[in-house]
Amino acid sequence: TPRFDAPAETRVFVVANQKGGVGKTTTTVNVAAALAIKGLRVLVIDLDPQGNASTALNVPHAEGTPGVYEAIVDGTDLDELIKPCPDIEGLTVLPASIDLAGAEIELVSLVARESRLDRALQTYLRDCADAGDRIDYVLIDCPPSLGLLTVNAMVAGREVLIPIQCEYYALEGLGQLVRNIELIRSHLNPKLEISTILLTMYDARTRLSAGVADEVRTHFSDKVLKTAIPRSVRISEAPSYQQSVITYDGSSSGALSYLEAAREITVAGRQEAQA
Ligand code: ADP
Ligand code: MG
Repeated sequence: TPRFDAPAETRVFVVANQKGGVGKTTTTVNVAAALAIKGLRVLVIDLDPQGNASTALNVPHAEGTPGVYEAIVDGTDLDELIKPCPDIEGLTVLPASIDLAGAEIELVSLVARESRLDRALQTYLRDCADAGDRIDYVLIDCPPSLGLLTVNAMVAGREVLIPIQCEYYALEGLGQLVRNIELIRSHLNPKLEISTILLTMYDARTRLSAGVADEVRTHFSDKVLKTAIPRSVRISEAPSYQQSVITYDGSSSGALSYLEAAREITVAGRQEAQA
């Protein structure tokens, strides 16, 4: 199978939407898996104390497992914390355990509380590049809130990927998310931009899904990927086998749609690099 082209420089995506259950973790895991299976080097940062991305990528994250908490709160080198996904070559994970739940409050009293992940990540990415092992894509899976953990992700990242569930109230809260991104841009990270919108849990049979999709495309135009992710039982089953849908059932519609969404992402990056 043809490989995806590597970007000109490492692309760091923040997968964010303060609504829960819209497909942030599913998108992080499956886009990352698709990119790695297509030959790219990918790092997933699990920034949700639930650790669902760590689970789906088969990386241990029981309470007490060192991970993103140690990176952000203690300043431990990422190099000591990142683990390979055992099933997918080229894919690594900075896991989250439930210990991260305390970080949101502990961060408040720490110096440079908004930029601790950024600092750790930039050091790690530079070290990888210096060692001739450049990471092509970083995907940060955010918790369902706009608190300090999500702020850390938005300071560390360049591109925001917003999954939008094709359901009632899909657009509710998006204004607040966009305003928060604007605040981060003007105060903490001028390079941050919403680059990618992905429609998830799309049901082609319903007018509701089509209506939401139309509304999102009107609002965000070419940032919306052409591929919408269908509602799929395979997608929802895969995490209970600690798998991405692509390794779980690579010929399912869910797997194919995530592969195509990931391909679109790589092409968008190439066009921007040329422009
Ligand atoms: P979030 O991280 O935004 O809270 P998740 O990615 O965990 O959302 O998805 C919420 C639930 O919906 C999970 O149980 C997940 O398995 C399921 N899910 C996500 N995407 C799909 C899909 N395309 N089809 C069916 N179920 C999905
Ligand atoms: Mg999640």
